[in-house]
Amino acid sequence: MRYVSTRGQAPVLGFEEAMLAGLARDGGLYVPERVPVLARETIAALAGLPYEEVALRVLSPFLGGEFDRAALAGDLAAAHAGFGHPARAPLVQIGPGHFLLELFHGPTLAFKDFAMQVIGRLMNRALARAGRRVTIVGATSGDTGSAAIEAFRGLPAADVFILFPEGRVSEVQRRQMTTPVEANVHAIALRGDFDACQARVKDLFNDLAFRDEVGLAAVNSINWARVLVQTVYYFAAAVALGAPHRAVSFTVPTGNFGDIYAGAVARAMGLPVARLVVATNQNDILHRCLTGGVYATEPVRPSISPSMDIQVSSNFERALHDATGRDAAAVAAMMAALKATGRFKVPEPALAALRSVYASGRASEAETSATIAATHAATGELLCPHSAVGVKVAGEAQGSEPMVTLATAHPAKFPDAVAAATGVRPALPPRMADLFERPERVSVLDDDLGALKALIRGRIAR
Ligand SMILES: *Cc1c(COP(=O)(O)O)cnc(C)c1O
Repeated sequence: MRYVSTRGQAPVLGFEEAMLAGLARDGGLYVPERVPVLARETIAALAGLPYEEVALRVLSPFLGGEFDRAALAGDLAAAHAGFGHPARAPLVQIGPGHFLLELFHGPTLAFKDFAMQVIGRLMNRALARAGRRVTIVGATSGDTGSAAIEAFRGLPAADVFILFPEGRVSEVQRRQMTTPVEANVHAIALRGDFDACQARVKDLFNDLAFRDEVGLAAVNSINWARVLVQTVYYFAAAVALGAPHRAVSFTVPTGNFGDIYAGAVARAMGLPVARLVVATNQNDILHRCLTGGVYATEPVRPSISPSMDIQVSSNFERALHDATGRDAAAVAAMMAALKATGRFKVPEPALAALRSVYASGRASEAETSATIAATHAATGELLCPHSAVGVKVAGEAQGSEPMVTLATAHPAKFPDAVAAATGVRPALPPRMADLFERPERVSVLDDDLGALKALIRGRIAR
């Protein structure tokens, strides 16, 4: 399997190299040259299998034989062993034809654990084989960072630096990043918003000399391997609800577009997905773009669903690449316009192609809280605010096929918003009940590229 950049000017790589590179050298994102299509019988045969076995069958065609099947099976087993539910991604019915896919039973209580736990092990295997060491740098609006730190802490072949916007992540999210004691993990509170964090990470990657000097690697949702691993739960959920014999729709609380893009990949692989619904909070740039055809950034407005407080939605570039018929020059032109002017227009045929795959909706802050309250009253299920944005938008988008809303985080990660809406304060699972007693370790930095480089150089020289 070969991987190409959405901007067409970077080297073509195999799976392992694309995973280790993260961002392509031309600023683009890696995508498979051709998406493998699973036969209908292959998809039907996934029904009833353990989650790890579904993962093995869905992921194998993309790895290009670079990982031994037995080793891969072992890594998949270990990756899911720390989950707090035997189904890994259980489905819960919350209304007629409406299901919640609970993706929050991993070690840091958000869906990011699914991909991060797997790619931590695959990267470790690949680096050990090559005798290499990498410096992983990532920006997080909260959940990616904790999942990355949890997946990589103590690994000999990697240092991990995670930038998060100071004061804009929940206390549970912050503590999950600042309390691990291993010397190879480094939490950085940046004085800026999430887009500033993401922009500094991109700056580091675009400085090719620095990139080579420290061996930069990325595990943000721009990393193809993460998107790929997330396709597994789309398959598991859809076959549980009758695919491939009937189509299923998904509504996905969306920020950086990685999770929903995994749904588009599953669809391209032959999974009968009727609609993929992008659910946004008040930072609704994707909803405005899909309805109006113009992607226009505005200042971020902090919300009660902070992991979706975003204006530059990196993986949308992959969807644009698909929608333009894989026209790398057209994608590069849109991204150049975005960088120069903060906006771009999606050409008409590409917009129609996007709309043939994605629908969209938004939820205001009040609607999000009301949905948490109403769902709790009707079903007893406590929703985190991100999942509530999804449930609200799904309710408006529901058709005749089953609708699955992805529940992206555990309610206890956002206890204040949940308690305000329901009067019930969700408890952390017992395995992390001492989180608030553990000492914290964090570096606070100005939004300054030079200071960031100096900190990274200093830490990896230890
Ligand atoms: C990361 C995250 C999202 C957004 O996912 P993307 O892949 O960035 O679109 C939504 N909800 C929660 C809880 C998250 O952690």
